[in-house]
Amino acid sequence: MNLHEYQGKEVLAGFGVTIQRGIVAKTAAEAVAAGKKLTETTGTEWHIVKAQIHAGGRGKGGGVKLAKNLDELETVADAIIGMQLITPQTPPEGKKVNQVLVAEDVYYPGASEPSEFYMSILLNRGTGKNMIMYSTEGGMDIEAVAEATPHLIFTEEIDPALGLMSFQARKVAFNLGLSGAAFKDMTKFVSALYKAYVGSDASLFEINPVLKTSDDRIIAVDAKVTLDDNSLFRNPDFEALRDLSEENPVEVEARSVGLNYVDLEGNVGCMVNGAGLAMATMDLIKQAGGDPANFLDVGGTADAARVETAFRLILKDPAVKAILINIFGGIVRCDRVAQGIVDAYKNLGDAIQVPIIVRLQGTNADIAKELIDSSGLNVLSATAFQEAADKVQEAIS
Ligand code: GDP
Ligand code: MN
Repeated sequence: MNLHEYQGKEVLAGFGVTIQRGIVAKTAAEAVAAGKKLTETTGTEWHIVKAQIHAGGRGKGGGVKLAKNLDELETVADAIIGMQLITPQTPPEGKKVNQVLVAEDVYYPGASEPSEFYMSILLNRGTGKNMIMYSTEGGMDIEAVAEATPHLIFTEEIDPALGLMSFQARKVAFNLGLSGAAFKDMTKFVSALYKAYVGSDASLFEINPVLKTSDDRIIAVDAKVTLDDNSLFRNPDFEALRDLSEENPVEVEARSVGLNYVDLEGNVGCMVNGAGLAMATMDLIKQAGGDPANFLDVGGTADAARVETAFRLILKDPAVKAILINIFGGIVRCDRVAQGIVDAYKNLGDAIQVPIIVRLQGTNADIAKELIDSSGLNVLSATAFQEAADKVQEAIS
């Protein structure tokens, strides 16, 4: 689950990470009120107005603007709220901005120049350890830094049994070229950030930029936070942070009926029981020259109602040209699944305009094949995995 910047910052602050303070606003009037309130608490007259959408690169797209007084704040907020913001990370048509974060200006002049760093925390699946990635080259495209100057990106792996050690936090501060008060504040920042990552069951933190202010404080100016959906049961408060308008509507619907569905680019709809078999099925489709339109794990109980729901979800994608059903009947008997498919097909009537290829293996597979073959519907049965993939190819080409 992805969070908006303002929500991510709230999570960070809850674990003691220093953030750029701000207030979220849905209208220009609310933005002005937020600005006034911030001035009272922070003392700064200048504010930065930031579009809240689930995509980065907002600065480049005109979604982040500085306002030096309340009149400017109103104008800027009015322009950003409601705009269709296009960034390198949005779909080509952009994303509509429904709210802005009005934040204190933290780039004020002082004893030294402010400097921007990059910092992220994520799981290194290769080593099975959490990893802090960081760089002196913050604020801009980290992908470009990784390409042109990979030696400027540092990584620090954390032993899950030991947690982040204090020498590691110091190493980060050292590699970022800090000294004095900024060095000390960075070690605190890194420790709090790591605590927040583990404590919130996050799967990604990306703070770009982490700012060293002109008076040597370390602050999170941006926050991209992804929480692990599988941990939400133990952080029930986080569920309220979900913004359904930012999520794929079919995936939202699938979740509400307890199906695991992930939308993909291709044209072969997949209905499979078990995540492992679902992934193997997608691989085989690819190998046969096709492209899966989705990942869908219907789970253990592939009865008529569930199959029908799955059909409806898959058919919402207009790109789907064929559907491959690949079910292993272990606990559930194949003939029951086959009957479910036939019943669901009949219930859906005209909704199904694409060929369906069914492979049922396991208990009573032969009876199931018989059922499918004699149903008179536009459903092809296959016995072998490869045969199923080939029939799919034939159907879409
Ligand atoms: P992104 O473009 O979506 O990554 O949004 P960011 O939150 O990273 O903001 C983009 C840029 O806005 C930052 O890299 C900063 O250069 C600038 N910015 C953010 N906060 C402030 C601020 O308080 N004052 C000023 N002057 N610039 C800011
Ligand atoms: Mn950023």
